Amino acid sequence: MVASCVEHSCRPGCGACCIAPSISSPIPGMPSGKPAGVRCAQLTADNRCRIFGQAARPAVCARLAPTPEMCGAGADEALERLSRWELLTRPEIPERWHHGKRTVCRAPAL
Ligand code: SF4
Ligand code: SF4
Repeated sequence: MVASCVEHSCRPGCGACCIAPSISSPIPGMPSGKPAGVRCAQLTADNRCRIFGQAARPAVCARLAPTPEMCGAGADEALERLSRWELLTRPEIPERWHHGKRTVCRAPAL
C-alpha cells in the first residue's frame, strides 16, 4: 500500500473559524479584537474574508490551517467543535483534581 498525503482544504462559504474563536489582535472594524461566538466584522454575508491576503488581516488568521479535526464535515460541525475548544481553553475555566489526576473542568454542553 502506498501512503499518500492529502492536504485538507478550507470549505468555501463555511466561516466557522471566523465566528467561534476569540481573536485578541485588532481587526479592521474591531479594534479590540473579536469575542468568541461573534461574527468577525470582515466576514461577508456569504462567509468569506473581506480582507483575505491584505496586511490588515490578523496574523493568527493567516496561520490557522484547516484540518479535518477542526473543520469537520460541515460548517455546523466546525462551529460546534471550535466553540467547544474555545470553552475548554478559556483561562477562567479552573483546573481541578479528580481521582488523583489534575483535570480541566468539563465545559458545559453547547
Ligand atoms: S472551519 Fe475550516 S472549513 Fe471552515 S472556514 Fe475555517 S478553515 Fe475553512
Ligand atoms: S479577518 Fe478574515 S479570516 Fe480573520 S476572522 Fe475575520 S473574516 Fe475570518
